[in-house]
Amino acid sequence: MSESPEKPAGRPVVLTCAQPTGRLHLGNYLGAVLNWGRMQDDHDCYFGIVDQHAITVPTVPAELRDNTYSCLAQYVACGLDPARSRLFVQSHVLGHTELAWILGCLCPLGQLERMTQFKDKSRKQQSVDSGLLFYPVLMAADILLYNAALVPVGDDQKQHLELARDLAQKFNHRYSETFCIPEPFLSKVGSRIMSLQDPGAKMSKSDPNHAATVFITDRPEDVRRKIMSAVTDSGAEVRSGPDKPGVTNLLSIMSACTGRPVAALESEFAGRGYGDFKKAVADAVIATLDPVRVRYDELIKDKPELSRILKAGAEQAQATAFRTLSKVHRKVGFVERPR
Ligand code: AMP
Repeated sequence: MSESPEKPAGRPVVLTCAQPTGRLHLGNYLGAVLNWGRMQDDHDCYFGIVDQHAITVPTVPAELRDNTYSCLAQYVACGLDPARSRLFVQSHVLGHTELAWILGCLCPLGQLERMTQFKDKSRKQQSVDSGLLFYPVLMAADILLYNAALVPVGDDQKQHLELARDLAQKFNHRYSETFCIPEPFLSKVGSRIMSLQDPGAKMSKSDPNHAATVFITDRPEDVRRKIMSAVTDSGAEVRSGPDKPGVTNLLSIMSACTGRPVAALESEFAGRGYGDFKKAVADAVIATLDPVRVRYDELIKDKPELSRILKAGAEQAQATAFRTLSKVHRKVGFVERPR
């Protein structure tokens, strides 16, 4: 008789992983991290900083280490709360690569070669290491190790989540019910924030035009300068619409920062022109980001505190990981590890 799949006791388990790749921007904050923070109220959250994924492309070791601390400090400053959630670094928890190996033994090579992200990334490199190909299997292991029911994913990760679902189903079918099948979590509130210099493109950390992206650790004077120089549209009317991509973007930024509907902002700024409007947008963004920056500045100087958070997160995540792994080993037929 098959066992029922592992169900999280009580609140649904959510897993979010992000690579430690430098500074978060306003798009990451308003479109993703803010929602992850809200999920802590009614979900059992795991937030992983996935350094093992980061080395699938060439990285500078000292930068990876600094970025890992910085990523942690930014997440905590944004409201991911180590007292309520598990914030951990992937390489601190034994089991991610171990489970990835076992899942890899169920994963046809062709399925990995067809992954859009692998095709895109490998096209840009002269020689391709197998870690890049295997990346989605490691991601499946990240998710299944914690029996996550929900995984917030952007468009670029949907195909990888589909693979995690496939592998979970395959494992359950071959060895009996073990994993719950993770669902994508598409948040209801969430804004797609566009570049301040080209409202046709998403705001991105890699934009070479520094005026296009507001980072969460930018000083208030830099935030103001970037917002004041944001591209607007012809005409002086503050309203949203397809003919006004620049103003629409600023309206949705202001709406996300203040919690006020776009329509209310349009009425407030009717007949007042772009100058007044941009000043108000800058004030709203500064009011939102300033506490985040102040907290980040404190935390990044406090290595003992960051290490304490990482230790607690790793211990909690490890307890879950070991439970899953020992169950998986038993199902696969590995002899129980002598104690
Ligand atoms: P990335 O920086 O691409 O690794 O994305 C991290 C998270 O932030 C993902 O959930 C993305 O969907 C989200 N994100 C990235 N850029 C934006 C943006 N410009 N607007 C809204 N959400 C974004």
